[in-house]
Amino acid sequence: MSEYNKPIPVPSQESQPYWDGLRERKLMMPRCDDCNSYWFPPSLLCPRCNSSKWTWTKTSGRGRIYSYVVYHRVYHPAFAQEVPYAVAVVELDEGPRMYSNVIGVPPDALSCDMKVEVAYEPITDAITLPKFRPVAA
Ligand SMILES: [Zn+2]
Repeated sequence: MSEYNKPIPVPSQESQPYWDGLRERKLMMPRCDDCNSYWFPPSLLCPRCNSSKWTWTKTSGRGRIYSYVVYHRVYHPAFAQEVPYAVAVVELDEGPRMYSNVIGVPPDALSCDMKVEVAYEPITDAITLPKFRPVAA
């Protein structure tokens, strides 16, 4: 952890519960109390029905690769040892899509619709990143 030199997310007032959840190994998302839909990133109103009544809710942490790219070029010096690495859009079983990395599998073994689950990667005392790894068949 002491060698972590990549950019570190800065929680906002709106996203703080998301980061608090990750620190406790829970992938939390806003869930609408009126239409039951989940969304991400957090916002004050449900993007589906505009309700202001919603609750931070733990998700399953499971989903599938909706899309992905493999980076072969170094765009930030802290990622020099990482290439090639995959950045994926993961669609959670609950519906929201989020950007993350898929770990534990070579990038050339990835495919769309591959089932994945969240893997928690603490990088500081305050910040834990949600990564994804393939679900064993
Ligand atoms: Zn709603």
